[in-house]
Amino acid sequence: MPVAKRVEAARPRRGGIEWGNLNWVVITGLGGMHLLALLALLPWAFSWSGLVLMAVLMWLSGGIGINLCYHRLMTHRSFKTPIWFERVLLLVASLAWQGGPVQWVGVHRLHHKHSDGDADPHSPRHGFTWAHILWMLHREIEGVKGEDAAKDLMRDGFVRRLNAWFWLPQFGLMVALMGLGWLWGGWVLGLSWVIWAVGARTVVIFHITWFVNSATHTWGYQNFKETGEDSTNLWWLALLSFGEGWHNNHHAQPRSAAHGMRWFEWDMTYWTIKILSWVGLAKEIHQPDLKKMS
Ligand SMILES: [Zn+2]
Ligand SMILES: [Zn+2]
Repeated sequence: MPVAKRVEAARPRRGGIEWGNLNWVVITGLGGMHLLALLALLPWAFSWSGLVLMAVLMWLSGGIGINLCYHRLMTHRSFKTPIWFERVLLLVASLAWQGGPVQWVGVHRLHHKHSDGDADPHSPRHGFTWAHILWMLHREIEGVKGEDAAKDLMRDGFVRRLNAWFWLPQFGLMVALMGLGWLWGGWVLGLSWVIWAVGARTVVIFHITWFVNSATHTWGYQNFKETGEDSTNLWWLALLSFGEGWHNNHHAQPRSAAHGMRWFEWDMTYWTIKILSWVGLAKEIHQPDLKKMS
């Protein structure tokens, strides 16, 4: 049965908004960032330099920060890197505004442990919109907080502090962009840089990451049919997400640093890990076992 049909047949067990369990801090943060991004629709807010800054910061905070650092390094330890570089990467990841590292890793561990089961924090079996966004508007899922699943990371003081203060570097970036833009071409340019390189950039990355939770458990093909859940490989999301869209490969072999496993499965995040290895910043890179592909 195609994945989309299987997901539809399993619906719904959860998926509605639980009003008493909403996380208003997250709702305010996500709502505010979406409002800032909407200002990008105003013609005066556009600048080519803002667009370039957005693209560069998309790669840094989404590709390097979320994929390479939060996901492949902090959650799956698919390669090793010096501790000073790990901390630089963690700071870069905080600019994606997807929560602190302990919370992010904890939620993702729960996702792998219970993939598409009742205790999966974000499975499309509970509704596509639930998997995409609604789950994260709640304080607890099935009585469990994401952070509790990664308490071991709290032993590192830097990680512990960044987990509490992850939202702050983004504000520092906004002040810096406003100031530099103002010096470069006036306050309208400063605002343009903030709107495009923070607002629009963060919201675009939000939805790309969220599609990994929703779309790549719904549409696409499977190289590994025996994974016991609904994960899929989805080419358009893999392109948008710098390689995270080869999600069925990833569920089959979570420790592998490479998510793309066939020649056409381009995985820009893995290419970056390879480049880092050439300069000694990535070692003991876990390789996929291609013989297991069905
Ligand atoms: Zn998944
Ligand atoms: Zn993973």
